[in-house]
Amino acid sequence: MDYMIKCTGCGNCLPCPVEIRIPEVFRIYNQYLDGCIGKAGNAYTCLEHPASECLRCGRCEKLCPEHIGISAMMLEIQEEMEEASGEREET
Ligand code: SF4
Ligand code: SF4
Repeated sequence: MDYMIKCTGCGNCLPCPVEIRIPEVFRIYNQYLDGCIGKAGNAYTCLEHPASECLRCGRCEKLCPEHIGISAMMLEIQEEMEEASGEREET
C-alpha cells in the first residue's frame, strides 16, 4: 500500500552502529500502519534497540537502494510507536 514504507528487508543498511534492526523496525511500523496497532506496539516494546536510539548518523541512508529517509523515519516511528506501546512518558 502507498502509505507503507517501501523497505524490502534487503539488509543493505546494516549494520547500524547502535544495532537498530532497521528492517525489523520498518516491518513493525508497517504492521502499525496497516492497523495492527496493538500487535505492532507489543513487537516494538520487545525491540532490544528501538528507533529512539538512532544517532542520525545517516550511514544507513547511503546504502539503501530504496532511498528511504531512514533517520527521519526513525524519529517519526519513535514518536508514534512509543504512543502505541504506551511507553511515552506523561509530561
Ligand atoms: S542513522 Fe540511525 S538507524 Fe541509520 S545507521 Fe545511523 S544510528 Fe543507525
Ligand atoms: S537498505 Fe533500505 S530497503 Fe534494505 S532493509 Fe534497509 S531500509 Fe529496507
